[in-house]
Amino acid sequence: MSAARLDIERVRKDFPILQTLARGKPLVFLDSAASAQKPQAVIDAMVDLYSRSYANIHRGVYELSERSTAAFEATREKVRSFLGAAETREIVFVRGTTEAINLVASSFGRARVGEGDEVLITHMEHHSNIVPWQMLCDEKGATLKVAPIDDDGSLIVEEFEKLLGPHTKLVALPHVSNALGTVNPVKDLVRRAHAKGVPVLVDGAQAVPHQRVDVRDLDCDFYAFSSHKLFGPSGVGVLYGKAEHLEAMPPYQGGGEMILSVSFEKTIYNEIPHKFEAGTPDIAGVVGLGAAIDYVEALGLDAIAAHDHELLEYATGALSEVPGLTLVGTAPEKAAVLSFVLDCAHPHDIGTILDQEGIAVRTGHHCAQPVMQRYGISATARASLALYSRREDVDALVAGLAKVREVFA
Ligand code: PLP
Repeated sequence: MSAARLDIERVRKDFPILQTLARGKPLVFLDSAASAQKPQAVIDAMVDLYSRSYANIHRGVYELSERSTAAFEATREKVRSFLGAAETREIVFVRGTTEAINLVASSFGRARVGEGDEVLITHMEHHSNIVPWQMLCDEKGATLKVAPIDDDGSLIVEEFEKLLGPHTKLVALPHVSNALGTVNPVKDLVRRAHAKGVPVLVDGAQAVPHQRVDVRDLDCDFYAFSSHKLFGPSGVGVLYGKAEHLEAMPPYQGGGEMILSVSFEKTIYNEIPHKFEAGTPDIAGVVGLGAAIDYVEALGLDAIAAHDHELLEYATGALSEVPGLTLVGTAPEKAAVLSFVLDCAHPHDIGTILDQEGIAVRTGHHCAQPVMQRYGISATARASLALYSRREDVDALVAGLAKVREVFA
């Protein structure tokens, strides 16, 4: 069944910031992989909560607190359904992907990984899926193993498989690479890891804005994502974990909310997911995430995926025509991320000249320095597309790059 098409001009009207100017020119926003813009529905949901239904959650016996709690917990159900998880208790609210990974490394990882063990990641990780594992390995005397990637940015699956050894205690890998755009064959990789009894955490930060995710189909043990890349507010994210793991794991942080009872002698921890939600959470942020999920579900995840894919093809073709431009990351399975270098200008100079035209791209190592090292470069310029991006944005980028060439070539 072919997906309904997005009406991009209508979609763009939902995002107030896209109607603004940058450097006096219409904003061309091509940095959605860093953080996506927010539709009015998300902004309204947060304003509405603060204006009419805000109180601390789970604790109050009064009506306002009940309303606030209901709005917060309604998002848990939305996330469950969005990820295809079996139960709401498998959905833990955290600050973002980074905190989700740190939670698993600190709790699951500490309990599972010991001296001489190995944690397997890939060469295309964001720093947030490297450093927590490195810290764990340092603490435990374990070794971090890295599965290599091809010149086009694809994971070399046979090498990944070879690195799954008797000492591998955990695999952590990205669903989609933020620096290269590569979409990994996660279901297949999970199957290979599970065949050797190894659990898998998937960093889904760059996947959820572009495609439907079904954690039960992937069969991953953990899945992490950030609200702010999914058109929701920053400061909120999600850790999905299989209930059997979450139940067995020790708490990550201690405090209020995560307990059933406390005395100076003994604390009894709360049920999952509350065991992992110490302290007052970002209540309005979670409610905003719920509105973001409603928003993408209403547009249709298949329609979003089709739009992003079509625009990626258009942008790949257009950028390939730019003289002296090399795309970094050309895997056959890609999400709407275009990293590139120019022969005549440093990425930061590219970004600065594009900015003068009102075009926002990201430049630098994209928190993925090992990826840059793999290609022998220090930085790239990166244009990333989202459901509100259109061909005109790509055309503006190409015209902007012609100006960069005028200055530097
Ligand atoms: N993983 C990937 C692939 C990312 O792109 C990012 C952010 O850019 C992160 C993890 C970290 O996300 P956050 O900063 O929201 O915790």
